[in-house]
Amino acid sequence: MTIWNLGSINADHVYAVPHIPTPGETLAATGLSRGLGGKGANMSVAAARAGARVAHLGAVGEDGGWMVERLEAYGVDCAHVQRRGGPSGHAIITVDAKGENAITLWPGANRDIEPEAVKQALQGAAPGDLFVTQNETALQPEAAAQARAKGLTVAYAAAPFDAEAVRAVRPHLDLLVLNEIEARQLEQALNSSIESLGIAHVVVTLGARGCDWIEAGSGTRHHVDAPRVEAVDTTGAGDTFTGYLLAGLSQGLAMEAALNRATRAAALKVGRPGAADAIPTAEEVERAVF
Ligand code: ADP
Repeated sequence: MTIWNLGSINADHVYAVPHIPTPGETLAATGLSRGLGGKGANMSVAAARAGARVAHLGAVGEDGGWMVERLEAYGVDCAHVQRRGGPSGHAIITVDAKGENAITLWPGANRDIEPEAVKQALQGAAPGDLFVTQNETALQPEAAAQARAKGLTVAYAAAPFDAEAVRAVRPHLDLLVLNEIEARQLEQALNSSIESLGIAHVVVTLGARGCDWIEAGSGTRHHVDAPRVEAVDTTGAGDTFTGYLLAGLSQGLAMEAALNRATRAAALKVGRPGAADAIPTAEEVERAVF
């Protein structure tokens, strides 16, 4: 069973600064690191680290070869990652001594994925495979509709939140994952409770408090606690969670077991600095004692 992920691939440029610059201020950074990020790439890496088979659908720019190599090294199939002109998606992240950050994001090649390439890639999917997407690329509704029509289970992480994007994808969804703030924004935008969205499974992540899983059929709300950890860097926590959740489902785990492993994986990620490169392996998740 393969997970098809239509998702962003970003270079994260992380600058350590004494404080977040104020308007008009020029400030020398005290440190710089570059890593692989983007919600899509993070999810693909998480699912691959969990041991699942993952095919990434996306695009990088002229400067993105190293990101494709990094994804491949993690075991992600990048045969359907397009090389486009111009810059890759990237994020300029400033982090102060207290861990507060400010982020400027340039979507770059993520918005230039060609519809025909996505269409062709999904023709290679088999019924029973999983499809996942987020809000940092283009073509989500079209791809979700095609995946659904092919008999794939369709999952969607509604981040960064965009009410219109959720409205467009919603009819094709089997599983929606969103954090507490996004859940509130969605309820307001649609004037409807999470329970009555008509999506078979909704998972609301609650940061250090774990997550809730809502089953539409019965309206039942299940809660899963997160292990207690000292939070070092919460970047990519949600992506790690969703990637692991999908991997679990693709590996035949029941929802509850997949959620349990996802919360353990996300907790380990939170204890480490970085995005994709800080996502733990299945073995680390298994061995972890909290
Ligand atoms: P996002 O990263 O998308 O904002 P959350 O903050 O809800 O979403 O985090 C996603 C998941 O990561 C949570 O459901 C939880 O399992 C895990 N997580 C996040 N923060 C912590 C934390 N401080 N301690 C333990 N687990 C955490």
